Amino acid sequence: MTDFYAVIGNPIAHSKSPLIHAEFSRQTGQDIRYEAILAPVDAFPATVSSFRARGGKGANVTVPFKLEAHKISTRLTERAQAAQAVNTLVFEPGGIAGDNTDGAGLVRDIRANLKFLIKARRVLLMGAGGAARGVILPLLEHKPQVLAIANRTKQKACELQQLFSRYGNGNIVSAAYADLAGEKFDLVINATSASLRGELPALPAGIFADGSLAYDMMYSDGLTPFLQYAKQQGAARLADGIGMLVEQAAESFLLWRGIRPETAPVIEMLGSCTTS
Ligand code: NDP
Repeated sequence: MTDFYAVIGNPIAHSKSPLIHAEFSRQTGQDIRYEAILAPVDAFPATVSSFRARGGKGANVTVPFKLEAHKISTRLTERAQAAQAVNTLVFEPGGIAGDNTDGAGLVRDIRANLKFLIKARRVLLMGAGGAARGVILPLLEHKPQVLAIANRTKQKACELQQLFSRYGNGNIVSAAYADLAGEKFDLVINATSASLRGELPALPAGIFADGSLAYDMMYSDGLTPFLQYAKQQGAARLADGIGMLVEQAAESFLLWRGIRPETAPVIEMLGSCTTS
């Protein structure tokens, strides 16, 4: 019997998740149907309830509902609790389990697909919104030498440093972009939404260390503004967020179906912008 899943967001027409899950379903032989649902901004819980009433078994949640998904979850994984944001719902008898697979997706893309080690490296995470929050714990699990969180509004970076300090070993710092002058990083992750508007965080010149990887969670046809800048600044390797998108989807699929699909062919199909 076919099981139903969905991605719920607003807007949602652009979502690549239905395509990704259709590929996973084909590849694994799992009998699922996965649709995109546009939820009115003031009716996320009602949209989830009606999908569940139609036989939905679980859902992905995207902008702007990840915080609300956290609120309606009756059980949370540690990584969702730490992120205070949920991107995967699993409908259980009597409740809803909430998880956050974004960070695991990012880290898997960096380590397994891009073969870049995080351990003992200097990592810069730009941004302090939902996406940044979701990846801090999984990054810390791989023991970077330093995890610097930089944000345009420095106060929000400070808040994240405090929130996650118990998971680090004193290796988390927070900064405004100007504070980074003279510093160098091995891995620079753009978790801001600046690229969406063709903008760039106000990074000082010279922050890319020899052999560094610049990673933009955003993806577009061609290089994003951040990746163009990183290339000019001498970053050795560039990657966009397609790999993260596919890996977080695979992690959700694993939660729902108990089987991890192959991600490499799907990343290739979607045309990730990656250089090595
Ligand atoms: P939020 O709206 O929660 O946060 C936006 C962040 O971007 C804030 O830190 C904000 O800083 C910063 N920002 C916005 N404009 C600028 C600018 N011009 N200069 C510097 N900083 C800026 O967004 P999300 O965290 O939800 O999403 C961020 C990005 O991550 C999006 O591009 C999204 O598409 C991507 N993403 C990709 C995923 C994937 O699977 N590949 C998964 C999840 C997200 P301030 O606090 O000062 O306003």
